[in-house]
Amino acid sequence: MIVCKFGGTSVASAEQIQKVANIVKSNPARKIVAVSAPGKRSGDDIKVTDLLINLAMAALKNEDIEKELQIVVNRFMAIADGLELDYTICDVIAEDLRERVQGDKSNEELFIDSIKAAGEDNNAKLIAAYFNSIGMTARYVSPKEGLVVNDLPERTYALPEAYANLAPLKNTKEIIVFPGFFGYTKAGILRTFDRGGSDITGSILAAAVEAELYENFTDVDCVFSANPKVVNDPVEIKEITYREMRELSYAGFSVFHDEALMPVYKIGVPVNIKNTNNPSAPGTRIVPRRSVTGRPVTGISADSGFSTLYVSKYLMNREVGFGRKLLQILEDENISYEHTPSGLDDISVIMRSNQITLENEERILSRVKNELHADDVQMRHGFSMIVIVGEGMRNNTGLAARAATAISKTGANIEMINQGSSEVSLVFGVLQEFENQILQALYEEFFAHVRV
Ligand code: ASP
Repeated sequence: MIVCKFGGTSVASAEQIQKVANIVKSNPARKIVAVSAPGKRSGDDIKVTDLLINLAMAALKNEDIEKELQIVVNRFMAIADGLELDYTICDVIAEDLRERVQGDKSNEELFIDSIKAAGEDNNAKLIAAYFNSIGMTARYVSPKEGLVVNDLPERTYALPEAYANLAPLKNTKEIIVFPGFFGYTKAGILRTFDRGGSDITGSILAAAVEAELYENFTDVDCVFSANPKVVNDPVEIKEITYREMRELSYAGFSVFHDEALMPVYKIGVPVNIKNTNNPSAPGTRIVPRRSVTGRPVTGISADSGFSTLYVSKYLMNREVGFGRKLLQILEDENISYEHTPSGLDDISVIMRSNQITLENEERILSRVKNELHADDVQMRHGFSMIVIVGEGMRNNTGLAARAATAISKTGANIEMINQGSSEVSLVFGVLQEFENQILQALYEEFFAHVRV
């Protein structure tokens, strides 16, 4: 059995949904189909999820919601029209939206979640109706039927029992159309995953039914070894390990959500990233293991929006519990961290800047000074992380030197270097303004001359 997931651009219009139907029909093993909400039809279009967020915001401000609601209904209406579906399905969608808008607003986050999820939920119903209308036997299945997630305040993830609950779907005779992006707590409260989270739903389903393959359909032929918007004609990645993909999707490779790897990784279900607009292209396969041949580096990613907390204190290395106390201060502010490069007497903690506000920054700095008696403490913003990833980097000498030399040619200073213990990644912290230049220089160094 194959579980396939179709992203926003793959289900953005009637024409795209027809392509989806052809893809699903062309292989009887494709029995479970997870779908996103309709995404952008062209560059300046707005995703239905964003339209729904506007609707939720208007409702929270007690504004008139009719305009926002109608925009969403019109999007679905255009799709239903193009698929020659009965318009009553749009009345059902309008009714569903009205009900959601009237829902409990006491917790704003949960209220927004319930509206946001309407894009996937209604699209799944519509696509199932379309499949049936063209003679493919299909059934909409709600995440209520087993995709249980945790309670607030932690970010949403599937509970272990979700997998057992969803496992019986493997016996389906019909094609299951399952909305991506959300699940329900044990108490029946709807919670969404992070943006782009339909990838996670597909992965949970693939793991639950122990699929032979998880196909993730998007709008590019494959994963590239570097961002094609920055690097000219980057090499296509044919095969990549979970570990490599995890490292790359963490920093800027947005083709596949980084949280979506865990469920399939645990069971060992391979993933194939494919293009709805060009389904015969082989795409990129994400596999547990691969033989390393050719170049040591598989991909280079870059992501901006990082801050560093720099702390120095003489004899820090001898002080038992210093690191724990420092990280406790961040935990008290509900901040997660990415890296902690350190020296004998100093340590930097690297975090995503979107977690830091003027207020919590001030509290952190004063607590580190007063409670940990640091000699120096500074918070700096505006960093990018450049990550070089490759299974072949292990046991490959001189790689860090080559990377550092390439970076130095751009005139940028390396603010931090971190090599993960697995040795499949090497991370450089640099000032944001050098990000693109460095990406180009590193690509030139590790890819440009050898086409494997
Ligand atoms: N529709 C949601 C979003 O725009 C989830 C997804 O498409 O994966 O983020």
